[in-house]
Amino acid sequence: MTPKPIVRGLYWHVHHDRLVEWCYDYDERKAYIRTEKPKKERALRLKLFQPVKGPLPSRVAKAAAAYDTARTAYDTARAENERAYAARVWVIAEVDKASAALDGTKANFAWKKANVAWEKVSAEYDKARAEYDKATAEDVRANAALIKTITEDDRAIVELRKALDSKAMVALHKKECPTCPWDGKTIFPKSEKEVQA
Ligand SMILES: [Zn+2]
Repeated sequence: MTPKPIVRGLYWHVHHDRLVEWCYDYDERKAYIRTEKPKKERALRLKLFQPVKGPLPSRVAKAAAAYDTARTAYDTARAENERAYAARVWVIAEVDKASAALDGTKANFAWKKANVAWEKVSAEYDKARAEYDKATAEDVRANAALIKTITEDDRAIVELRKALDSKAMVALHKKECPTCPWDGKTIFPKSEKEVQA
């Protein structure tokens, strides 16, 4: 069974004190509101938490697409980084094992006179060492790739936030969210002090 795809994009009122934001996972946020937010707030939060229909101002559309690309690259690089790190840790254990076998063989060498055994564990150690070097290089590469995507992700989210902070989005909100109690700061204008983000 393939997992349900994550629904993401621009949404009105992902949080009570934001007009519009990039939502990373609609179902996750909805479930969070349903279980974690005070009961009296849930209905209004869920009612106003809606996808932006658009059409979007072109700067917003461009920034959102760029951000989605940057974020996807970051997620991919992060997964790759985790995989490379786990592989490296696994190989370290293999090297330790091979090294212990080598030490054991060294200690037993004299009385066993088992030259064959020595050659075998020695070859195994060399192999494990080579794998370790390869896994290390791969881990370092994955790390560098991740750092690059983090930088790009940060840059893209700043640009998207700038693009969203516009009169055009306020006008679009008026059209798409007509009965909204949003006062420019919150969807709970009268009870702001009681509300948690
Ligand atoms: Zn609204």
